[in-house]
Amino acid sequence: MRLAFLGTAAAEGLPAVFCNCPACARAKERGGRDVRTRSQILIDDDTLFDFPMDTYMHMLAYKLDLSKVKRVLITHAHMDHCYPQEFCMRGGPFAHDMSESRVCVYGNATVRDMFLSDTAREMREEVRSNITLVALRPYDDVNSGDMRIVALPAKHTAGEECLVYYIHRGGTGALLLNDTGVLDKSVYERAADMGAKANIVAMDCTYGARKHGAGRHMGLYDIVEQRELMQQAGLLAPDAQVYATHFSHNSDLDYDGLCAAAKPHGVHIAYDGLVVRA
Ligand SMILES: [Zn+2]
Ligand SMILES: [Zn+2]
Ligand SMILES: [Zn+2]
Repeated sequence: MRLAFLGTAAAEGLPAVFCNCPACARAKERGGRDVRTRSQILIDDDTLFDFPMDTYMHMLAYKLDLSKVKRVLITHAHMDHCYPQEFCMRGGPFAHDMSESRVCVYGNATVRDMFLSDTAREMREEVRSNITLVALRPYDDVNSGDMRIVALPAKHTAGEECLVYYIHRGGTGALLLNDTGVLDKSVYERAADMGAKANIVAMDCTYGARKHGAGRHMGLYDIVEQRELMQQAGLLAPDAQVYATHFSHNSDLDYDGLCAAAKPHGVHIAYDGLVVRA
């Protein structure tokens, strides 16, 4: 399995769209790995994890053929993870010679409802008819082609059943956790009971090199603790690699600072354009 981190920022981006704080000023000045677009991962070349408004920019930056994407896994309905309007362009006079005619969008019921309402005005029927919407609930376990998808409950926003995902393909498992605060060990135990075994883990690190503990996002020390719970639950392969992603300007640290804080813990800091394989 190949995971390409197309974007690694929280909702506001880094630098943030309207911000002049020191962290954003430094990121604008330095560029490179200190600039982060909204979080999205491309798995192999046919699966997207989340669909932010920066998806178009990711297509440009990485020269992607997004018409190859057969499935999109959406965690929740916040705009930096779910931007359904873009799908209006997937067909008709707006897209020619697509590699795949159909795409399946997985999310919770809120994502499904938002997708339908946000595209109601502009999506042509011939475009809509090639999109399958699947509403998942925590612990739903589905097969999509050769990929197994298990939805797990996130701890994020009241009033919405936010999800994180375990995916498995070709003998490799990946656990993709954003946006979420710390999860109870029972979530990891239940995933392990379902046969999940992760070689790659990507985790929310909105709070940078801090511990947050009780909120709707995580920091580096939450990630270290969560990895311990995953290990105890038997959810991790012996060589499992953990990547922190979904960073905010409010964490203050730049890429080098985050790497220095994470290295003693064996956690990798993701950046836009990072490609990992397992
Ligand atoms: Zn987010
Ligand atoms: Zn800022
Ligand atoms: Zn969110």
